[in-house]
Amino acid sequence: MRDKNKKSFLLLKKHNLFPFIAGGIVFFIIFLISEWLIELDELVHEEQYQARVDGRINHISHQLQETINNNLLVIEAVEALLLLKPAISSPEFKTIAERLLVSRPSIKQIELSPGAIVKYIYPPQDSSLIGLNLRSIPDQKIMIEQSIQQRKIMMAGPLELIEGGVALIVRQPLYKKEQGRTQFWGFITLQFDIDKLFTEAELLSNDNLTQYAIREANDQSGDGRVLFGQPNVFSSRHLSAYISVPGGHWLLGASINDYPHTPYHSYLSIWGLLASAAFGLLTGLTCILWIRTYQRSIHDPLTGLLNRQYFQKRAKTEIERAKRHNLPLSLIMIDLDLFKQINDNFGHQVGDQILISSAKLIQEALRDGDEVGRYGGEEFIVITPHDNEAQAQLCAERIRLKLDRHIVLKHQQIKLSASLGVASLSRDTCDYDQLIYKADAALYQAKENGRNCITIAESKN
Ligand code: GH3
Ligand code: MG
Ligand code: MG
Repeated sequence: MRDKNKKSFLLLKKHNLFPFIAGGIVFFIIFLISEWLIELDELVHEEQYQARVDGRINHISHQLQETINNNLLVIEAVEALLLLKPAISSPEFKTIAERLLVSRPSIKQIELSPGAIVKYIYPPQDSSLIGLNLRSIPDQKIMIEQSIQQRKIMMAGPLELIEGGVALIVRQPLYKKEQGRTQFWGFITLQFDIDKLFTEAELLSNDNLTQYAIREANDQSGDGRVLFGQPNVFSSRHLSAYISVPGGHWLLGASINDYPHTPYHSYLSIWGLLASAAFGLLTGLTCILWIRTYQRSIHDPLTGLLNRQYFQKRAKTEIERAKRHNLPLSLIMIDLDLFKQINDNFGHQVGDQILISSAKLIQEALRDGDEVGRYGGEEFIVITPHDNEAQAQLCAERIRLKLDRHIVLKHQQIKLSASLGVASLSRDTCDYDQLIYKADAALYQAKENGRNCITIAESKN
């Protein structure tokens, strides 16, 4: 008995949990979809930001290239002047240099060094540099010799200067033809102010999300000296662009540390959560409504037992199974005795209460696997799979004994009893309608026999 109650409680619990499970699943699925869509949108935003950084890198490298090329024009201008007038005077050099540097803030200094000995400097600084032999500067000696031998413009630095400070040094060797022979004449040297160079190229005006850096890229090894920014920019995934400089290349790199976050995605996330919750709730409520409608469609509203239509469906399934496996099965029809009198004597409401109590009493008399339904009025019907005639008779007796009692309702004692007809599967009783017919006939016989008793339908085995 306890097992039976436990089972129906579990069944109820299972049904009660179903709306929560369905609602939870819908909530979870919609939440996942909304998060996935937000992630896709974030990816699109990230790609857009990457494209912006890519554009910016190209812009910076272009600006740097322009500035460097423009600065190198100074060398060409001075070279052309020296061709025209090799013995240029100090005031003439000053006038020309002053004019050339007006629109080139990143050139710190111009030097003219015939025979690699410093002769003129603009802007004029420490006069002790005048007469300095460039070949005697220890960390520039190799560069000077290479430049003369290879006849190539060279860039070095950033270097610590003798006069103090740091600069990029560009040296252009000049040659003159004397008696048909080309001879080294001297150097035109430019000092680039590296900070101003990078400021002019808008390299320093950046957001905090992307790190920029510049390194020398004169060979494929990828470990050239870093001139600006942090070396780790080149060790992680980065975007890059090359810049041609005198005597080699620079590599401008940008690594994105983080992407711009907009409150838009947080709002979307909250909306996604709310929409998921709403859909989850809606699904849960729909399930509750569906379960209630379904339960109503299969149960009798007064007693809560299976209704006649649904009982018939279940019974037919059980009969088919029993026949398939050659198992016994019995059907018991129960009719409350003299129920009309109860209605007449105590009222219809009391009659209803008696019907409810009777339904409970019958359920208490049954075992697992037995099914009970309300056949109509004060008639109930029970199907007992696996029970042969004798076992069904025992079951019917349990029911009869349960119903044979006095019930106290509204301080009145009401005598209750029932008559029962039992029919079992047999050769001549092999479907639902025949079982009903036989059980009904047996029930009629029980009424004839004086009520509160059981009659077993005759069967051919
Ligand atoms: P018998 O022992 O021969 O079966 O006598 P009976 O009075 O039980 O038989 P009868 O068929 O004459 O009466 C059945 C009564 O059950 C008639 C009807 O008023 C009553 N009844 C049917 N359905 C309900 C119901 O849902 N509620 C109530 N209170 N009474 C019902
Ligand atoms: Mg009746
Ligand atoms: Mg009756």
